[in-house]
Amino acid sequence: MDSQAKIVIVGGGIMGVSLLYHLALEGCSDVVLIEKGELTSGSTWHAAGQCPSLVGNYNLAKIHNYSNWLYPKLEELTGQYVSWHASGGIRLALTENDLDWFRFLKGIADNVGFRMEIIDPEKIKQINPFLHTDGVLAGAWTLDDGHADPSGLTNAMARGATNLGARIERHNRVTNITLKHSGAWEVTTEKGNITAETVVNAAGCYARQIAQMVGSDLPIVNMQHHYIVTGPVQEFVERDEEIPVIRDPRASAYIRQEQQSGLIGIYEHQAMTQAWEPDGFPPWISDSELFPDNLDRLMPWLGYAMERMPVLEDAGIKRIVNGAIAHSSDGSPLLGPAAGLKNFWLCCGSSFGIAQGGGCGKYLAQWMLYGDSEINMTGFDPRRFGSYADDEYMKAKGFQDYRLTYFTPLPGEELPAGRLSRMSPLHDKLTAQGCVHTETFGWERPKWFSLDGRTEEYGYQRNNVFDVVRDECFAVRERVGILDLTGFAKYEVTGPDAQSYLNNICANRMPKQTGGIVLAHILSERGRIGAEMTITRLADNHYYVLSAAGAEMRDLDYLSQGITENEKVEIHNVTDDRGVLVLAGPKSREVLAKITDEKLDNDSFRWLSGKEIRIGGVPTRALRVNYVGELGWELHPPMEHMGTIYDALWQAGQEFGIANFGLYAVNSLRIEKAYRGWGAELTNEVTMIDADMARFVKLKKERFVGKEATIRQKREERSLQLVYFEIEANDSDVRGSEPIFLREDCIGITTSGGYGHFVRKSLGFGYVPPSNSEPGTELSINLLGERCHATVLGEPVYDPTNIRLRA
Ligand SMILES: Cc1cc2nc3c(=O)[nH]c(=O)nc-3n(C[C@H](O)[C@H](O)[C@H](O)COP(=O)(O)OP(=O)(O)OC[C@H]3O[C@@H](n4cnc5c(N)ncnc54)[C@H](O)[C@@H]3O)c2cc1C
Repeated sequence: MDSQAKIVIVGGGIMGVSLLYHLALEGCSDVVLIEKGELTSGSTWHAAGQCPSLVGNYNLAKIHNYSNWLYPKLEELTGQYVSWHASGGIRLALTENDLDWFRFLKGIADNVGFRMEIIDPEKIKQINPFLHTDGVLAGAWTLDDGHADPSGLTNAMARGATNLGARIERHNRVTNITLKHSGAWEVTTEKGNITAETVVNAAGCYARQIAQMVGSDLPIVNMQHHYIVTGPVQEFVERDEEIPVIRDPRASAYIRQEQQSGLIGIYEHQAMTQAWEPDGFPPWISDSELFPDNLDRLMPWLGYAMERMPVLEDAGIKRIVNGAIAHSSDGSPLLGPAAGLKNFWLCCGSSFGIAQGGGCGKYLAQWMLYGDSEINMTGFDPRRFGSYADDEYMKAKGFQDYRLTYFTPLPGEELPAGRLSRMSPLHDKLTAQGCVHTETFGWERPKWFSLDGRTEEYGYQRNNVFDVVRDECFAVRERVGILDLTGFAKYEVTGPDAQSYLNNICANRMPKQTGGIVLAHILSERGRIGAEMTITRLADNHYYVLSAAGAEMRDLDYLSQGITENEKVEIHNVTDDRGVLVLAGPKSREVLAKITDEKLDNDSFRWLSGKEIRIGGVPTRALRVNYVGELGWELHPPMEHMGTIYDALWQAGQEFGIANFGLYAVNSLRIEKAYRGWGAELTNEVTMIDADMARFVKLKKERFVGKEATIRQKREERSLQLVYFEIEANDSDVRGSEPIFLREDCIGITTSGGYGHFVRKSLGFGYVPPSNSEPGTELSINLLGERCHATVLGEPVYDPTNIRLRA
């Protein structure tokens, strides 16, 4: 075996092999893939091979779509037969919510470019005459998807990769991985050691064991999943055309034709089982393993599937497959850097690895080789989870994800598993006041307050919390509101080189005065947006850095991994040490003044400045910034004093009509101010110029990561421009991922939106070609199947000159 390679991939399932292939296609062939058995001998060989296009997430849809584009071509590209069946698929809608979801997905299909039609039961019957359409409202017919032989696909990509010079080592287990002094990885295998600059964990169900070799862990649970293959079905024998793969929420099942037989796979809701109990870890000797079947567990869903396609009932069962399937805690794959480790990447955690393998390999290869990928990878970045995702959490979440495979996701729906992992000290106090929490990075965060005991009726249309959120918004705009945002990621950056270091990694200039605050972005070498942070200079060589709750691990990596050997900088993650309370609204100064002796007038405490003040004797960091566009302060007391500070503010605020508010209201307030969101408008796909954020880039600085690319982009023709728009919506608002049209041409995609309660306008953001971005441009946007007129705006609809913030 070679003793050296640029990249070592551990695991020869479809995910690892696809990455190998796409790295080689990008010209990086000094890569060795190590597989302990035969290629595909983990989960891949026994998979049913379906490759659906219909997924609820725009970026995941791009991953699936690329696979479906690639797989039919693989045989021609590599000479390896892959048995691609272009059967298409039909997912059934049984409720109005299912149908609304299809309308939303149709927008994704139009944008991503796969064919999808919403068809009525009659048409479904024409396409699949064997299907009982009782209770079926419609079908989402996707014409470009199909199914293939998973081993064929993997071996084709393996052949393609080795033809391009990449290497594959079979029957060789990786037994350990250690970090050398040089920063390279030493990979120990049964057949010797190999040194690599970069290692990728693509070990499928073994991914946690590989992670543990390098001192980390992954939020993956390995489960058992069955499908059955029936005996020959006479009706299929007599037909020339293959039926599309049917996905039926009632049966929680996929149903398709397998040659002349039927194939039914069930995602049971109860008695779900971990593979390899008690801890879910496969033994190293497991190879092409199946588990004993348990048809009882599949009831009653298998019965429902038979009711949907009665022709399968009489065919008998010929074969049962019960294999291992990995589920991550949110159902999306883990693609990207492992938290806290340099040059250690993950390509695992996919529970639809056949459908996703092609796209995962392509976009991860781009990220590894060029620093970012052409699609938004935020939702796949493994650092979207932290250490709160312990065994109990990952099991609860993984099981929930499995069970919900054929549930329609409803906007805002709160799911029960894995909750209460991270809580602010105010959690119970706010719950007692009607707070409904939502979860981000383990944190329970206020979403809205139910003052009359109502519960949210989830759906795609505006619902029964619309008015409640409006009241919260008005409280902030007209009086004063208070919000617990403790989940913010918080870091301290200290040391003699702190300022120069931050200036080197951020596009904005660090504040020169103590107390100054800037909004700063970390860019890739290609000038694309990696991180967004609010940075306060607390003292010479002491900075307080805040970023999104969901970016805690990712931004910690950004901050710590850029430090060079000679730089004297220390980074401390202080997220759990301090709480955050937002006090905002025209009366906020008067409220705060009642409980602090600090001068709060504009000369003493200007907008975009921060200092340590005392509130009721408690030293608290106070920053005059917020994301809602009002006079206000963010207060960051030591975590243990959150209760005292909240009580003091609440008490002081009574005479001013203080109200709690939550993240639903924040979305409405920030969209009125045209504040962009990290992960939605600000992503690895775009630059600061695309996002109309050039004012936060200081090109006069001697250097910063991404400077050259930003300068280049200023000169070159660009393809994207962020626009802010008002839309004539009826009963639903932009959520992001809706298609934007110029007359009949789909020219762009929305990134986020919402209803601006104070301004009484439905608003949103989206990306379009720069030539269509002029204020006043008339566009239209598809909202749940309805084409709505939209107008590009030139400035925020609320307080465009920041008078309220400076008040
Ligand atoms: C019954 C069933 C049906 C399914 N049907 C579908 C479907 O229709 N469509 C779909 O998209 N998905 C389907 N899946 C899921 C799919 O099988 C998986 O998502 C996919 O195979 C995962 O691929 P992978 O490369 O991540 O993992 P694997 O295929 O498990 O590959 C990981 C590899 O790593 C190797 N390895 C582990 N540790 C080491 C080590 N220390 N040294 C060297 N090598 C190591 C293993 O031997 C293994 O070959 C199904 C799953 C099941 C159980």
